[in-house]
Amino acid sequence: MNPRRSPNSVAVRLALFAATLFLFMPGSATAQEEAPGWKVRSPFGPLGLATPNTIRTGAGLPGPDYWQQKVDYRIEATLDPATQLLTGSETIRYRNNSPHALSVLWLKLDTNLCQPESKSQVLAVPPLMFGESVFDFTCDGSGMTLERVAAGGRDLEHEVMGTIARVELPHPLPAGGSTEVEIDWYMTQPEYGYGRTGRDGTLYQVAQWYPRVAVFDDVSGWNLTPFLGAGEFYQEFGDFLVALTVPDNFVMTATGTIVNPDAVLTDEQQSRLARADESEDAVAIITGSEALSNRGRSASGAKTWRFAAENVRDFAFAMAPDFRWDASSYDGIRIQTFYRPEAELWEEANRMSWVTIKHFSERLFPYPWPHATTVEGPNDGMEYPMLTFVPTETTREGLYWVLTHEFGHEWYPMIVNSNERLHPWMDEGFNTFIDIESVEVYFEGEPYAEAISIQPLEMWTDHSIAGSEQAMALPPDEQHDLFWAGYFKPALMLHLLQYEILGKDRFDRAFREYTHAWAFKHPTASDFIRSMENSAGMDLDWFWRAWVYSTARLDQAVAGVSVTDVGVTEIRLESLGRMVMPAELQLGFSDGAAEIVRLPVEMWKLGPVYTYRVTAGREVTSVTLDPRGVYPDDDRANNEWPR
Ligand SMILES: [Zn+2]
Repeated sequence: MNPRRSPNSVAVRLALFAATLFLFMPGSATAQEEAPGWKVRSPFGPLGLATPNTIRTGAGLPGPDYWQQKVDYRIEATLDPATQLLTGSETIRYRNNSPHALSVLWLKLDTNLCQPESKSQVLAVPPLMFGESVFDFTCDGSGMTLERVAAGGRDLEHEVMGTIARVELPHPLPAGGSTEVEIDWYMTQPEYGYGRTGRDGTLYQVAQWYPRVAVFDDVSGWNLTPFLGAGEFYQEFGDFLVALTVPDNFVMTATGTIVNPDAVLTDEQQSRLARADESEDAVAIITGSEALSNRGRSASGAKTWRFAAENVRDFAFAMAPDFRWDASSYDGIRIQTFYRPEAELWEEANRMSWVTIKHFSERLFPYPWPHATTVEGPNDGMEYPMLTFVPTETTREGLYWVLTHEFGHEWYPMIVNSNERLHPWMDEGFNTFIDIESVEVYFEGEPYAEAISIQPLEMWTDHSIAGSEQAMALPPDEQHDLFWAGYFKPALMLHLLQYEILGKDRFDRAFREYTHAWAFKHPTASDFIRSMENSAGMDLDWFWRAWVYSTARLDQAVAGVSVTDVGVTEIRLESLGRMVMPAELQLGFSDGAAEIVRLPVEMWKLGPVYTYRVTAGREVTSVTLDPRGVYPDDDRANNEWPR
């Protein structure tokens, strides 16, 4: 096309310019306005994604100028079970890889959610209900007291504002520079802490516990979304050296490897661990009867456990005097399960963990850390690098589901570090999606494996309620039904993308490429969408718009069937909802034959009505849309002809 240059008329030039744009705009507005029922703007128009740049490219990949901060921690802490006092000193080494000088550091003090004056406690934020699991955001702890914040021996000005704190650096930290900040702090470990941290008698699961530096990135600058409970955490990667001093009758496990095994483990435990490191089957490091006899032992002093972890986004730990401890090895990774003697189902948990870590490693990205550990206890399910918390559970199915889910988080978001406080679908959702296949692998041939893949579609009826459903793009704190919008709806979305739109191989390759491209980095929603579209080779803006950014509903219908003068059967199909999807038709013929026709989503490009023509000479006697019942179709009564 060669638009003519108009003499001096701005108005005409603008009009021409507009007309040119218009021609290139997918699904022109005129076409929609003329099409009855197609009242919304084109479902195929481009999504308003973030403008690509040299940090995050148009192909959805980290660009040549991609940067992220590195934050290392050295922490020495003591937990006294007599007083529940957790006291710590930490040195934060902050490496500023950004191109900007920074004059402040922002800290996150999640445990301040426990303060009576915290936003969550004042508002009495209601708990999240996930079926039988409850994530209550009440807390009986004290919050965090910062006793000293200093650098180079000089106290730093700082101000605590609820779950965040601003620390003034003595000098602006230049681009490429590093600084160290020392913090002395204390808190009381709550019995029940906002569904993330807590204890049950003498079993402790301690998480989100030390002052952590907030993420500074190219997208939002400082990420300071307050911790209200539902949003989990968004952290920088770094290395940890942590020394934890506790009574010497406790057995401990944590993010990171034990660097002083001689000081904290018996010779027998160490030789059993050496055997476990050569074994695919679980080896008891602490047996059931040993755990029971340990239970009766009281402390004779204190013991310091030292852990080191590299390239992780957080650090959590657990301890109890009476843990059973099983270990095995997959591909050089120590697979560990810690549980109380009463949790009998947990004898299978090590096998479950082994299968889970192997499955996700092969399917997504090799598990990158030296151990993968699950601890049984009061927490209803929570994930930290190398360490997950899983409840006792009463069925094998329930145990596997939570166990594989929490381990799935090692990939999203512990490796692929999206912002959980903003995009629950990118970690809980991706994870729920991959968990389904993990269940199918572990329970192959059993009824649970058969039932699991249709679970998201079954949930759709109860949870996807027109008028009250919310877009999955909303942050977790704004979701009334996070279980649906953050977990199972994204799983349904990705399942349909995998099997109905891209096909399994094409989807799997794209999803794996996204995972590899953003491993140990901070992808945004725009990055994921671009990466998937580029890798799969398909414009999917129409898909994400409907599923992620709106509550568009699907209603495909057979509007009518007629035969032309020359004997061509015309099947009039309609897309009555705001969501478009490909269509599958089952045609029945008068000679008894049946045929499946798969129509790509481009059928709706010219509007919400599409006529499919069947070659002359064959009499169509029945038409069924979505004969396998795989779509969440709002009105299935109009899927059949004759009605
Ligand atoms: Zn989760």
